[in-house]
Amino acid sequence: MSEYEKVPRGKTLLEVLEEKHKLPVTIFKYTICAPCLKPLSRTFRPSVVLQAARDNWRLPALFFCPLCKTCAAKYHRGGRNKSTVVNAFWEFIEKEAAQ
Ligand SMILES: [Zn+2]
Repeated sequence: MSEYEKVPRGKTLLEVLEEKHKLPVTIFKYTICAPCLKPLSRTFRPSVVLQAARDNWRLPALFFCPLCKTCAAKYHRGGRNKSTVVNAFWEFIEKEAAQ
């Protein structure tokens, strides 16, 4: 888990990235649930939106991924349920980044 960095209190991940890179940050917002790939309707209000940023890319990028109800429930349950969702989310991000 050493590759994860904590965002300081009172700051957003976007602010941290912008300060670090001095470059405009590309923002990706998804309309599917990243862990299970379920399409989400425009009116869906997610209770959890996972954010990811990677530092080792040429351009700083920020990913906003809303979770569907099922994945959000697992996420809230914590423990192994939460890590399954988070790991699937990272796999999704890695694939997106590889394109
Ligand atoms: Zn889902």
